[in-house]
Amino acid sequence: MEKQPGKVAQTGINTRLAHGGYDPRDYHGFVNPPVVHASTVLFPDAQTMANHSQQYTYATHGTPTTDALCRAIDELEGSAGTVLVPSGLAAVTVPLLAFLSPGDHLLMVDSCYGNTRHFCKTMLKRLGIEVEFYDPLVGAGIEKLIKPNTRVIFTESPGSNTFEIQDIPAIVEKAHAADAIVMMDNTWATPIYFKALDYGVDISIHAATKYPAGHSDILMGTISANEKCFKTLDAAHSALGLCVSGDDAYQVLRGLRTMGVRMERHAESALEIARWLEAQDGVIEVLHPGLESHAGNALFKRDFCGAGGVFSIVIQGGVAQAQAFLNALRIFGLGYSWGGYESLALHVHLGGREITGKNYAGPVIRLQIGLEDKADLIADIENGLAAAKTV
Ligand SMILES: *Cc1c(COP(=O)(O)O)cnc(C)c1O
Repeated sequence: MEKQPGKVAQTGINTRLAHGGYDPRDYHGFVNPPVVHASTVLFPDAQTMANHSQQYTYATHGTPTTDALCRAIDELEGSAGTVLVPSGLAAVTVPLLAFLSPGDHLLMVDSCYGNTRHFCKTMLKRLGIEVEFYDPLVGAGIEKLIKPNTRVIFTESPGSNTFEIQDIPAIVEKAHAADAIVMMDNTWATPIYFKALDYGVDISIHAATKYPAGHSDILMGTISANEKCFKTLDAAHSALGLCVSGDDAYQVLRGLRTMGVRMERHAESALEIARWLEAQDGVIEVLHPGLESHAGNALFKRDFCGAGGVFSIVIQGGVAQAQAFLNALRIFGLGYSWGGYESLALHVHLGGREITGKNYAGPVIRLQIGLEDKADLIADIENGLAAAKTV
């Protein structure tokens, strides 16, 4: 069979993950792309240099390695183009900088990633951008919050740490009717479980640090846009001088090859552990959108094809019980981030929230379910719950 570049775009998700972005015939048949270490690219003559009439001109604008990753992500997202930035946080801040001007109004979901809120309250405020936080459950009611100067509606579903599910199609419809664009931090579901652009989102944002990298050793963000928004995004990315190293781009592309099977395992273990937790003494609530008991379960089932492996629990007690739980864990590590192969836990702080996060009956603990054996993870959590009870 003659292999046509681009042909894999029509295939199933795991086939795209395995083959997307790079054609081995482009580099002597080697299965993986070369890692290009570069700044300077040479031109054959002065005319070519003057016209920039060759594919690569300078490495801040891309290399065969970063291009392979961008194309693989475009095939997953169905996007017109993707840019790479040095962290997931930069994948949030760069599109906001690209599309917002002084005097514009931004609607930011209240359950956003904590550092997204910090950026809004500091740099966007200094730049004269009006930021209004809205309820993640607002749905079509977003219409009432849209003003003549609303330029961007920013979504993140499920919400960071508290896992509220947003009605993305309803928000998109109202936003587009008012000529605002919709951005989504889609890190939790990855394009495997939620294809944001298919639901009308204009810009899909990922902390590739999480599931795409998958091994807790790379920081990167990806920003993918539709045809309408890619030019503005790309211009801002280039004006800001943002780029990533060939080594990191290579590692994230390598991570994508196995992301489908890793996600299946994360998702299955997480949902089973979440169900088990619902029946445990000392657990007040389990915040996992895949559970029938979750307020967002109907929307989740309508729009998502699967769940990430991160969720939260609300346990009985206060800070002392939360810390006793965490200190008793032996397999779960205490650390930030998630999406790696190893399980992690932390005590969630919801301090900056304006609308959400105030009514939990106990401390909220976030669990990232890794690739370890489920029975070992359950035994570890059992020890944590027992320790919390003895405080
Ligand atoms: C982790 C995370 C980020 C930030 O990613 P970094 O690479 O750690 O900067 C952004 N958004 C969400 C939803 C995240 O979970």
